[in-house]
Amino acid sequence: VFNFSAGPAVLPEPVLRQAADEMLDWHGSGMSVMEMSHRGKEFISIHAQTEATLRELMDIPADYKVLFMQGGAIGENAIVPMNLIGRTGRADYVLTGDWSKKSHKEAKTYGQVQVAATAESSKFTAIPKQAEWKLDPGAAYVHICSNETIGGVQFHWTPDTGSVPLVADMSSDILSRAIDVRKYGLIYAGAQKNMGPSGLTVVIVRQDLLGHALPITPTAFNYKLQAEADSMYNTPPTYAIYIAGLVFQHVKKMGGLKAVEEHNRAKAKLLYDLLDASSFYRNGIAREDRSLMNVPFWLKDETKNEAFLKGAEARGMLQLKGHRSVGGMRASIYNAMPIEGVQALVQYMKEFESQHG
Ligand code: PLP
Repeated sequence: VFNFSAGPAVLPEPVLRQAADEMLDWHGSGMSVMEMSHRGKEFISIHAQTEATLRELMDIPADYKVLFMQGGAIGENAIVPMNLIGRTGRADYVLTGDWSKKSHKEAKTYGQVQVAATAESSKFTAIPKQAEWKLDPGAAYVHICSNETIGGVQFHWTPDTGSVPLVADMSSDILSRAIDVRKYGLIYAGAQKNMGPSGLTVVIVRQDLLGHALPITPTAFNYKLQAEADSMYNTPPTYAIYIAGLVFQHVKKMGGLKAVEEHNRAKAKLLYDLLDASSFYRNGIAREDRSLMNVPFWLKDETKNEAFLKGAEARGMLQLKGHRSVGGMRASIYNAMPIEGVQALVQYMKEFESQHG
């Protein structure tokens, strides 16, 4: 089947096969990774390898810490301000859809939080141009969501926030393309789209931003303590870290992030070309801001939605129903979705249009 779920999402098949092979006995240790002490030499080597491969893939500079945490991206919506806002007490948020709105709402508890720009007037169908942003030079950071998983808009440029650190929720597009980590103060992502199973949250943070946690910050969520403890201040999500490590190695074998990006662009183009050529379906997102990961679309005649989904399911194409807040359809085409899956969807959409159009 082809699973178009927005997350947790498909993992690469070779990764799942390797994990199955190693499930009962990892590398002759006689243990499953799940049973290992996180302080034992076997798991320490898995952890170190996972971090090293991610650093290599994303070209993460030495003055950035990589933290493997728990709590998900929604947890980070609170953990980020708890750790960073203390420097000046203020932060800027750019609202581009449901996820950045949620981040902004959560942050209000921890300091003075301003909306620097919002796409509300376009119903979140476009990213506000940087010239319209009202940035506070005294903010501790500027927060964006690089890819809005529900709305289907994505940043295809990196905002310039001067000396104010840029913070990005990259949950749904991390590892989908090459980015310059140096342009960010902090990047966070729940693992369950492009990196591995749920339960793991990856935080990449510039070292000089550590050490400003509010006194109320739980120790398990204090970046400085976690950085000093190599993410082992508390028991980390060991199995999820192991699987993420296998995914990172798989991405490396695929040719790294440039190759992955090319593949993702080719997949998304198939869908957008069809949507642009059709009067039966529409996407509605500004062309330059369209997501390469989550492609929402609507049938002009919404009474056909059920028939569309039923037909897709009969062909093994699952989870195409749009998010309940926006309706319609959504095809999530993360790294592990093969181009054949998108080709099959496009073929089905054409057939459905010719039968019902
Ligand atoms: N941010 C974005 C962009 C997401 O897509 C999601 C989940 O889909 C979240 C945050 C929430 O992540 P979690 O469920 O890991 O807390």
